[in-house]
Amino acid sequence: MRRRLAAGNWKMNGRLADLDQLAKIASAYPDPACDMLLCLPATLIHTAAARLSDTSVMVGAQDCHCAASGAHTGDISAVQLADAGARAVIVGHSERRADHSETNGTVCAKALAAHGAGLTAVICLGETLAERDAGRTLDVIGAQLAASVPEAAGAENTVIAYEPVWAIGSGRSATSDQIAQVHAFLRAGLVERFGTQTGTAIRLLYGGSVKPDNATEIFAIPEVDGALVGGASLTADDFCPILAALAAAQD
Ligand code: PEP
Repeated sequence: MRRRLAAGNWKMNGRLADLDQLAKIASAYPDPACDMLLCLPATLIHTAAARLSDTSVMVGAQDCHCAASGAHTGDISAVQLADAGARAVIVGHSERRADHSETNGTVCAKALAAHGAGLTAVICLGETLAERDAGRTLDVIGAQLAASVPEAAGAENTVIAYEPVWAIGSGRSATSDQIAQVHAFLRAGLVERFGTQTGTAIRLLYGGSVKPDNATEIFAIPEVDGALVGGASLTADDFCPILAALAAAQD
């Protein structure tokens, strides 16, 4: 059985004082029935990882460079993130794909770098509204899955997050039918490519306007193993009810 995962993405939000929110989350769930990961701005990773080392909250990053070191001013490598205490890193978030022209090939190289550094790669996929309206959702997702996920991916180092671009930060989550269709497609694609054992073990998250009031419905959808949560991961008041919904879904 896949252990469920609630992952937060703070994006470019949060200062040291906001780490109190993580302490609140950790104390509310000392022994959670699901995995918890908060992907923080790089400036907070080391401090957060040190403060949360005795808790069940894992700290992650939001991006990494595909090289381990070198002349890449302003970038951070997966090796450095691991050194700072990160356990995972998001790669291929649609904001990175759009704002930094990241291709599937770039995302795959970053995922490989994450694996090489001992980090779990949370690989994001998702269609734009124009692609959905044109009936191209599964074509786009299929191409992203094929080219963004490394050959050697396994359940121990890879999580896939389906995040329709139009649902991120919009307050408009995908419908249950839309999520179910894409997650079933992703599961079948993983099994076809990696075989039944690995293909059924890799966790699939949904992301896009997951909130306390829609979490229970989303977590009941087949092949949804958890969520990647942006805005609602910034405070314990919003994130804790999502964790509770996920823990209840695990039972
Ligand atoms: C995200 O940033 O990955 C995300 C899903 O954001 P939100 O939950 O705010 O839509």
